[in-house]
This record gives sequence, structure tokens and C-alpha cells, in this order.
Amino acid sequence: MFVCDTMLGKLARWLRILGYDAVYAKESDDGLMMIAKGEKRILLTRDEELAGRSGGFLIKKSSVDDQLKELLDAGLIEIDEDRMLTRCPLCNSMLKAVDKESARGRVPERSFENSDRFWYCGQCDKYYWVGKHWTDMKERVERIRR
Ligand SMILES: [Zn+2]
Repeated sequence: MFVCDTMLGKLARWLRILGYDAVYAKESDDGLMMIAKGEKRILLTRDEELAGRSGGFLIKKSSVDDQLKELLDAGLIEIDEDRMLTRCPLCNSMLKAVDKESARGRVPERSFENSDRFWYCGQCDKYYWVGKHWTDMKERVERIRR
């Protein structure tokens, strides 16, 4: 869906949190354009010249909240709770919903006791669950949407 330039690593992570396929590539301008073209991704960039040359989308703001707002306003993304927690924020792989038992011993004990739903990223060998940081993120997203 998206490829983010080197200035937009944080935005890439947030796009993944929202469930969007976002590649973050430390590449030259030409490299980024090749990924965008080859994988039919929208290039998100803070570089006006590159945005013009590539037909990508120019991100004007510097804070990630504002950047997400720009994408929302442009109709490029929407905030849909059902999409959230489908993708690993670290590596962009799809997360797999796993049963509670398989997370035992792999997540902090308190989180294990307090959560019923767990997800797993095979790429990072990492478990995710709906905890405090997740509720914080959701609140933040709600704020951005308003
Ligand atoms: Zn991962």
C-alpha cells in the first residue's frame, strides 16, 4: 500500500498499527521510486521534489499525529478498529491471532492474566496483546480522528 521515505519511520509504524501495509526503506530516491513502482505502492515523502517527480504524496507536517491527519484528509487511509492489530508495527508482517495458552510464559505474567486475546509475529518472534499501551494508542488515534 505505502512506502515511506527515510524521514518517515515513525509514520510507517503508525500506519502498521492502523493495519496498513507500510514499507520503510532506507533507500535513495531512485530506490524508493523503484519500490513504489514495482510493488504498486504510494510513495510518502517529505521531499517536495521527489513527490513531484514520483507522483507520490507529499507529507507537509512534521509531527506524526499531523501526518496521519494529512493522510486521513486526503482519503488515503481510514481509521477502522477492525483493521488495527493485524500487522506487526516493527516489521510490517501480518500478525497471527493465537490462543491464550500459547502466550503463556512469553508475555509478562500480569499481561497474561489480564488479557484474553494475543497475537504473534513469526518474523520478530514477538507476542502482542491488548494492554495499557494499546488503549493509549487507541485514545491517541481517536484524538487524531477528531
Ligand atoms: Zn514483526
